[in-house]
Order: sequence, then C-alpha cells, then structure tokens
Amino acid sequence: MSDCLFCKIIKGEIPSKKIYEDETVYVFEDIEPTAPVHYLVIPKEHISKLDEITAENSGVISHIYEVIAKLAKDMGLKEGFRVVSNCGEHAGQSVFHIHFHMLAGRDFGWPAG
Ligand code: 5GP
Ligand code: ZN
Repeated sequence: MSDCLFCKIIKGEIPSKKIYEDETVYVFEDIEPTAPVHYLVIPKEHISKLDEITAENSGVISHIYEVIAKLAKDMGLKEGFRVVSNCGEHAGQSVFHIHFHMLAGRDFGWPAG
C-alpha cells in the first residue's frame, strides 16, 4: 500500500523509533505515547484491520503475540501490560494498517473508554 503511513514506516520512508524487527513484524514507539511504555506492533504485510484476519494471514498475528510476550519478558513487565487493537472508526482506529498497542508502566482502567 503505497499511501499507507505504517507501510512507509516499515520501508524507512518515514522515521520511527524501532524497538524490534524480524522478517514479518515491526515494533516501534508510538509518536504520542499514552503510557510510559507505548509500542505499536505491526505486521510487515499490509492488513487494514482486525476483521480482515483470515485463515490465510493469521500466522503473522500469532507471531505478533509471540513477539509481544518476548518483549514483555525481556522488559520485565511483571506488573502487567495491556494490548489493544482498535478496529474501525467507532473503536477509534485512525491508521488503517492493523496494529497492536502494547501499553505498560501505569495502571489501566476497565471497562475501556
Ligand atoms: P489507532 O488510533 O489507529 O488505534 O492508533 C494509531 C496510533 O498511531 C496512534 O496512537 C498514533 O499516536 C500513532 N501514530 C500516528 N502517526 C504516527 C507516526 O507517524 N509515527 C508513530 N510512531 N506513531 C504514529
Ligand atoms: Zn500498510
């Protein structure tokens, strides 16, 4: 997707603070963090949003959760953390390349706002 912000970040056309990268996943700091730790975890493959996950492309999503678990372990996030993926405008999605917010370093309320 040539006009996708996160595809441009993956390609390095837009700078980002990289936390982790492998063949299929890219992790970087959110530009407007809402917690002391606020990472965005994205597949390198362009998938617009959560309801476009299928049997054909879900492998990268399970890998994303492996990456999140490894990062949490490496960072010692023993007090807990939160993962959020907003799907669609009503849920607050503003960038239409699927992403998982990884949030930590403070208490989080529930139910979600
Ligand atoms: P959404 O609102 O779609 O769930 O999350 C999009 C996130 O992308 C927001 O938290 C926003 O701060 C972040 N974001 C938007 N543009 C950029 C950017 O150019 N660089 C980075 N690192 N994050 C961005
Ligand atoms: Zn994209």
